[in-house]
Amino acid sequence: MPGSALNKKITVTLPALPPLEEFLPYLEQIWESRWLTNNGPFHELLESKLAEYLGVDHISLFSNGTLALICALRALDIQGEVITTPYSFVATTHALWWNNITPVFVDIEPEYLNLDPDKIESAITERTSAILPVHVYGNPCKMELIEAIAGKHHLKVIYDAAHAFGVKIRDRSILDLGDLSVLSFHATKVFTTLEGGAIVSHSAEMKHHIDNLRNFGFQDETVVEEPGINAKMNEMQSAFGLLQLKYVDLYIAERKRITNIYRKLLRDISGLQFLYDMEGVHHNYAYFPILIDENFFGMSRDELYLKLQQNNIYSRRYFYPLICDLTMYNSLVSAASTNMPVAIRLAKQVICLPIYPDLELEIVKEIAELIKNYQR
Ligand SMILES: *Cc1c(COP(=O)(O)O)cnc(C)c1O
Repeated sequence: MPGSALNKKITVTLPALPPLEEFLPYLEQIWESRWLTNNGPFHELLESKLAEYLGVDHISLFSNGTLALICALRALDIQGEVITTPYSFVATTHALWWNNITPVFVDIEPEYLNLDPDKIESAITERTSAILPVHVYGNPCKMELIEAIAGKHHLKVIYDAAHAFGVKIRDRSILDLGDLSVLSFHATKVFTTLEGGAIVSHSAEMKHHIDNLRNFGFQDETVVEEPGINAKMNEMQSAFGLLQLKYVDLYIAERKRITNIYRKLLRDISGLQFLYDMEGVHHNYAYFPILIDENFFGMSRDELYLKLQQNNIYSRRYFYPLICDLTMYNSLVSAASTNMPVAIRLAKQVICLPIYPDLELEIVKEIAELIKNYQR
């Protein structure tokens, strides 16, 4: 009987934790040095190791991804209007709100659910200062097209790369593009520092500016250059990150293995679609989204979501509701539903199935079996 093996709650993700005994030596060092935060030795080491791992020149660690987004916009002095996607985690748009910037929502493309470059230009006004796209599920946006538009209209580009840890196109990090890219190392992400985040920048001057912003604007002991914030990553987070980094390739390989099993088991189901790898892209398999077309599947996305829950499978509807439908944003002109046909349609169809490095094969099979049985 389907579902019978699922006697424990299966969540959409679980953080991958390295063996506890491997974390203890880091803690001993922290106890020894009594250096807990403010550019401690683990913080400095993690910055250099991450820059090397990701293949970028400059990275600044943050206490979380949302503060990194807020500071990235501040570092470039972005004002007025910013073009962004409604199909993301709320923090993308909230970061604009915290900077007093008006979000301008633009629809997504149906293939990878990223901001649609074809719809950007008509949303540009004389108040537009930047584009804030998201690499949703870690799939790179159409960066060349976005940056051509940005160049033509003298706009900055800040990528919300919260899902895109380690993603490369033909061996080049996608974090290398745009003016800035922002990562999240939240507990639910591919690489985690418990809470955490980072900004990737492209010059030593910009990194210096960002580093000051995240530490109250302190230039040195007595000089405060600008009204910065406290968004520093501490030594516990940094140490955890250093240990995670040793395992992250393994974690991504496991995610890839699970993705391919899902793809094999869920192939050729009427009304069910999933996303494929992009050519030349090294993916991180952060999520496994499927799209349910009720007319062909025979059951709505929400019905399937609830049925799975009844079987102890806690999938998530990332990204539903759309950000533009939240009460604090839905009165914006750009939030009008007529402006958002693709995002509205796909937000009603999407379910992210459980995926994390040690998700058992048996459970993946069970989930696929349940879904197949619901199709009619
Ligand atoms: C997780 C996430 C963030 C926020 O990061 P935190 O580290 O949780 O603050 C921002 N944008 C997107 C797309 C995310 O998924």
